[in-house]
Amino acid sequence: MPTCKLCLSEATLRNSHIHPEFLYRDLYNDQHQLMGINGEGHRGYAVLQKGLRDSLLGDCCESFLNREYENPFLRDWIDAGVPETFRDEGVVYSVKVPDYARFKLFHLSILLRASWSGLGTYADVSLGPKHEERIRRMLLGGDPGKAWLYPIFGYGVADLRGKEPWPILSRPMVTELGGLRTYASIYAGVAWNIGVASHLSREFSTLGLQPDGTLHVIATDFRDTVEAKLAADNLRAAEAGRPVAAELHGRASRMEYRGVNGIRGIVRGHR
Ligand SMILES: [Zn+2]
Repeated sequence: MPTCKLCLSEATLRNSHIHPEFLYRDLYNDQHQLMGINGEGHRGYAVLQKGLRDSLLGDCCESFLNREYENPFLRDWIDAGVPETFRDEGVVYSVKVPDYARFKLFHLSILLRASWSGLGTYADVSLGPKHEERIRRMLLGGDPGKAWLYPIFGYGVADLRGKEPWPILSRPMVTELGGLRTYASIYAGVAWNIGVASHLSREFSTLGLQPDGTLHVIATDFRDTVEAKLAADNLRAAEAGRPVAAELHGRASRMEYRGVNGIRGIVRGHR
């Protein structure tokens, strides 16, 4: 019998989402299709009908994560319309999340699932046994840990010229911020950066999510993000027969990238 990766008890494993399905909600077109931009094939994207999943958890922890972390985030962030406030370029918005612990642990739960997953899309996401075990215990115990541990910092990402959302979900990508190894993943209108280290970073401590629930979000135009550049690169390279590795998910009906770091590309999505 396999074991559930979160509670370690024997369980029939479900096909668990890495990012909860509600984060893909705005990406689907009328036919419930989204673009998985992977730079492969002659188009550079695959049409998907569902978000990526892997067998990770039993019913025990599927419902636990759903109840404790996913539903509160859906209610307090997405349904509350918070991302729609980040619309003026360069402005630093200060928001207060109602439940610091659940909010922080929600983001960590996605990062941990991506780290556990054996899917090729998440091959670069590897927290290592020490961090995986620490985050696993934090999630089970509802413990957000010290403020400096796994700090979270966000860039609001939208089409700021059109004052519209930029419907995209990106896998966690490794980067470095404030001297910390950082994973950045865009969903729910924000590029969430999570620092992974066992020491303090001053930049993250000042700007990151605070234990009183305060979060500073800098509004950024999607054209200035590395994810937009990667998506444009992928789609253009596939056309030219030179795939580059990266994967992002975007709305199938309409995707446009113009003038991203000098790259001009307009992509008409699958209809
Ligand atoms: Zn479990």
